[in-house]
Amino acid sequence: MRIDVLGVGFDNVTMAEAVERGMELVRSSGTHYVATPNPEIVEVCREDPEARTAVNGADLVLPDGIGVVKGAAMLGTPLKEKTPGIEFAGHLMDRLAKEGRSLYLLGAKPGVAEQAAAKLAEAHPGLRIAGTHDGYFKEDGPVIESIRQSGADVVFVCLGAPKQEKWMARNGAATGAHLLCGLGGSLDVFAG
Ligand code: UDP
Repeated sequence: MRIDVLGVGFDNVTMAEAVERGMELVRSSGTHYVATPNPEIVEVCREDPEARTAVNGADLVLPDGIGVVKGAAMLGTPLKEKTPGIEFAGHLMDRLAKEGRSLYLLGAKPGVAEQAAAKLAEAHPGLRIAGTHDGYFKEDGPVIESIRQSGADVVFVCLGAPKQEKWMARNGAATGAHLLCGLGGSLDVFAG
């Protein structure tokens, strides 16, 4: 049962539970995706049905910050805690590194994903970076093909919301990855 905050359904999980579920999705067959909406995106979803469908279609919907957690409490249906996307990603990468799984980084300006890849490989020894691509492409086809050929288990999709959620809903399965995570501006942060 998800907790509804103005039309977006959030999973009521702690960070530890979120990471556990994320890893279950990585190990299961088929393609899954994670969304981490903040209050601005909840607002966007009220106006944009495609965004709402894409966000609610995620296998895991995590409250990115305290705003959504406060909103849920005010509505009388509290969420356990905030589970920011960038922190979720950090924990997930630790687990991926331990299991020798591979990660593809998609998004941000040219050069940023490569720089993030170098930093992340250093910060998470054992993490395999399957490939990278910037977020300013015109056609989806070559990007999907690049991910597919890389054989990545997981893709961080950092195109900003709700573009990334729509992209994951439309193209996720074609990439062949087990899990895609929409993570906004995280690659800029990882690249330092
Ligand atoms: N971005 C992208 N392609 C686009 C538009 C944006 O790759 O067509 C990237 C942008 O370079 C930045 C990220 O998406 O790295 C969006 O970051 P922002 O913090 O604005 O998004 P939010 O985290 O609020 O969703």
